[in-house]
Amino acid sequence: MTAAEEFLATPLQFLKGVGPRRAADLRRAGLATVEDLLYRFPFRYEDRAHFASIASLRLGQDPRAIIGEIVETNVRWTGRRGFKIFEALVRDPSGSVLACWPNQVYLNDKLTRGQRVVLYGKLEFRRPGGLQLSNADYEILGEEDEAGAAERLHTGRIVPVYEKIGSVWPKFQRSLVQQALERLPADLDDPLPLLLRERLALLPRREAFEQVHFPPEGAALDLLQAFRTPAQVRLIFEEFFLFQIGLLLRKRDADAERKPFVLVTNQKIRESARRVLPFRLTRAQREALGQIVADMKNPHAMNRLLQGDVGSGKTIVALLAAVVAMENGLQVAFMAPTEILAEQHFLNIQRLLVASRFRVALLTGATPATARRDLVGDLAAGRVHLVVGTHALVQEGVEFARLGLVVIDEQHRFGVIQRATLRAKGLHPDVLVMTATPIPRTLALTVHGDLDVSVIGELPPGRQPIVTVAKPESRRAEIYEFLRAQVEAGRQAYVIYPLIEESAKIDLKAATEMADHLARDIFPAFRVALLHGRMKQDAKDRVMRAFADGTVDIIVSTTVVEVGIDVANATVMLVEHAERFGLSQLHQLRGRVGRGRHQSSCILLYQSPLSDDARRRLEALVETCDGFVIAERDLQMRGPGDFVGTRQSGVPTLRVGDLVRDQALMEDARREAEAFLAGEPEARLVGLVRGTWAARFGLAEVG
Ligand code: ADP
Ligand code: MG
Repeated sequence: MTAAEEFLATPLQFLKGVGPRRAADLRRAGLATVEDLLYRFPFRYEDRAHFASIASLRLGQDPRAIIGEIVETNVRWTGRRGFKIFEALVRDPSGSVLACWPNQVYLNDKLTRGQRVVLYGKLEFRRPGGLQLSNADYEILGEEDEAGAAERLHTGRIVPVYEKIGSVWPKFQRSLVQQALERLPADLDDPLPLLLRERLALLPRREAFEQVHFPPEGAALDLLQAFRTPAQVRLIFEEFFLFQIGLLLRKRDADAERKPFVLVTNQKIRESARRVLPFRLTRAQREALGQIVADMKNPHAMNRLLQGDVGSGKTIVALLAAVVAMENGLQVAFMAPTEILAEQHFLNIQRLLVASRFRVALLTGATPATARRDLVGDLAAGRVHLVVGTHALVQEGVEFARLGLVVIDEQHRFGVIQRATLRAKGLHPDVLVMTATPIPRTLALTVHGDLDVSVIGELPPGRQPIVTVAKPESRRAEIYEFLRAQVEAGRQAYVIYPLIEESAKIDLKAATEMADHLARDIFPAFRVALLHGRMKQDAKDRVMRAFADGTVDIIVSTTVVEVGIDVANATVMLVEHAERFGLSQLHQLRGRVGRGRHQSSCILLYQSPLSDDARRRLEALVETCDGFVIAERDLQMRGPGDFVGTRQSGVPTLRVGDLVRDQALMEDARREAEAFLAGEPEARLVGLVRGTWAARFGLAEVG
């Protein structure tokens, strides 16, 4: 270890001024070592390089820096017991201003009459005293300071502002960073390869640290705030580059796994697949299937993501791949995120495979113990060829004789861990994950960067675009008339209620009452049914099946119908309290209609007043049906963690980069990482990434 590496690994409590309490607070915020500290960017910067005259200060302005002399100080007691305010009157040639620091009496020992100080703050109106600078940052000037000899830390320059961490105030962190930079040994090396740095004109690491925390004179404030200065870009790129190298190494390792079974396709297998197919595949489906089957015939295990907007027909593609696997004597596991969806897939697949010799089974949390025991035995003996299920598939005790293909539907709902667990049940089985949440490219490079991707970019023929409208409560009667007309014309409708964890009971009551109200008062002639997550499995199934059969006209539901459900005759999606749903969620709900040849509508009924965010979400939905556009917007509004959903979903913990803000840099990093590994990669860097990647980015070493 070099001296610099050793210093970077030093726990923060070894810096001056960091006691056990502060060290603990810092650690809790993810700052354990000097390195962590240096990689924690200021969250904004303030220009304190230019001084304003006191007379020019105005109420409502952004904070300004002033320079002047303290002419008087005072500790004021307020009415409230024990609450004191330290005050100082500061004067410059243009005038004077009162500065106050509530609850900081200790300043009485620091700030005294006659000192020259720089203050940075905002004019406020407070009683008593009127206009004053409140809680200003201060710096006491000595003779040399004013001559510009000593470096000023907190004022007189563009200063970094850090987020407060427990007992660690921004100002203290600033001193701490300065201390760390001063003590950083000269032999600091750079993880980025020299040639790469030269070609991309990236700053050396040390300079980048220095300039990120203490921007040089004349640095552009707007670039700093946008995290686009050369120093910031350099460190963000470094992080992304190391991340992508790790991801590509992982992909390489997975690609190197040889399967024990090599699959083939021939005339007989193609025939068998054709018999299953109820319609002609779209061109996009054919292409995706071609890529998948090519992977399956490859001696290395498949790791492929199948992306396609809701309704694009992913299921049949997966099923045809399953037929190829089963014709090769292998078993298939098909995992869905909810019981209802697993059940629907099961019924569908069973129907399509009824004439085949393949045995299909369903395994969910609701499967009775005896049936489960039999099924587990059949799977282990290879008597069941395809099993559809929920998380129950990844439980202990479920073993396969020859698991060759794992299909994971609506992948965003599952964690990476579950994917790995299921994969581990086979001997390097092929893995196909499917998602209807189109993932913006950058995020795909990040979260699924170790997967190959197929996209189904068109809908089956004959689909008409869904008409989407957002309506306030006042239009309810009109909406009911529309529903009535649709049902009278033979169509079916969904009415969706939000279900939020904290108020689940109330929401459930609202949905239940709504179902009653619709059935009794509004549509007495129609068949209305209620569906919610608390119902028993068989009751849910009965309702869903009745809806699919057309014996229920209107289904009132909490969001259990969100993913996957497929009823082509349903043409109305009415979402109550649309303002409470997320963008992707609404898009998923909308995807439940528009699946047949009839014109479909999605009605977003909202309660006023709308928040700005909610308004933007509804507008986006009305504007476009394109899942990729929706996904981009959603990512921007919510950020990557929430967007992808579950934790352990593969979103890395980043120190300096931001997946939304720095999309272009991630693309650069991906390209450079690919080029780097394709050449003769430095063993040192590969070793470094292999050793630290999973821990550093908070991703368990799985998959
Ligand atoms: P998703 O991609 O959202 O999972 P599904 O696989 O549920 O979509 O397919 C949506 C509907 O479209 C289903 O009813 C399915 O049978 C139908 N479908 C899929 N592909 C085609 C096709 N090529 N031609 C006609 N209908 C199709
Ligand atoms: Mg689906």
